[in-house]
Amino acid sequence: MESLKGAAVSAAIKAQVEEMLAGFEGPAPKLAIVRVGERPDDLSYERGAVKKMESFGLRVQSYVFPEDIGDAAFKEAFSAINDDEEVAGILLLRPLPKQICEKDIETMIHPEKDLDGISPVNIAKVFAGDKTGFAPCTAEAVVEVLKAYDIPITGKRVSIVGRSMVVGRPLSMLLLGENATVTICHTRTADLKGTCRHAEILVAAAGRAKMLDAEYVGKDAVVIDVGINVDENGKLCGDVDFASIEETAAMATPVPGGVGAVTTAVLAKHLVQAALRSRG
Ligand code: NAP
Repeated sequence: MESLKGAAVSAAIKAQVEEMLAGFEGPAPKLAIVRVGERPDDLSYERGAVKKMESFGLRVQSYVFPEDIGDAAFKEAFSAINDDEEVAGILLLRPLPKQICEKDIETMIHPEKDLDGISPVNIAKVFAGDKTGFAPCTAEAVVEVLKAYDIPITGKRVSIVGRSMVVGRPLSMLLLGENATVTICHTRTADLKGTCRHAEILVAAAGRAKMLDAEYVGKDAVVIDVGINVDENGKLCGDVDFASIEETAAMATPVPGGVGAVTTAVLAKHLVQAALRSRG
């Protein structure tokens, strides 16, 4: 089985970003990361994103708010960041604490600065196949991995385990746009094993440590593991039991070192696209 490394895909995206930035005058595009509280998941994603922006030569600033900030105060602060002309794009770390109405923020964020596709405008564009919108970075990262490794998508049977608005649903639309035949699985799927095993490309985005073993994987399938979990020994792992599919799958993304590294590269690409678009 070939391991599909995220670092190689990220390097290819970096080259694209550098090309897009050739001739870009003035300070590099700036990303605003908006975080409320100190959730370890958020801190880890933020660290990765900051590192990636810096390595791509882009500017990044974190805006951090206390866990107990009120709805009105957060909206006022968010609005100022949203309207700041120096900020080319925004990454809002979610979920927000319960007292803040997340739906309102999704509507408030300027669609052209909404790099992770949370605004209804961008969601509608992704579902309509309109490429001027920003898709959620993780969903797009899956497509980037397949393309970077020249894995054919057209006409392929793809099963996606997970139907969230962050991964499963937008990804199904992106892959449909690439002419795949897509099946979306979830907790009520009657024959999950059979549906997964039938797939030529299997995407795992369930958030369940090592739940998909060789019995779920068809011979010579390509497996993309989006899951980020912690196993029984406290180690980072995906939704796929990587060791068990060694003899069955043709290729698979590892965790860590797979889709995660590509997600922040896609974020950087979106930032540059946003900056270029704002300059017409
Ligand atoms: P989520 O909102 O919890 O959604 C999980 C989805 O998986 C749901 O649709 C759920 O079905 C389905 N599911 C859960 N257990 C299942 C089972 N036993 N059988 C079949 N379907 C099952 O999670 P998410 O936000 O989409 O994230 C999914 C995973 O990706 C997590 O591990 C997360 O950490 C990771 N992630 C990674 C990145 C990255 O950059 N690599 C970015 C975002 C998320 P129901 O709808 O029926 O409940």
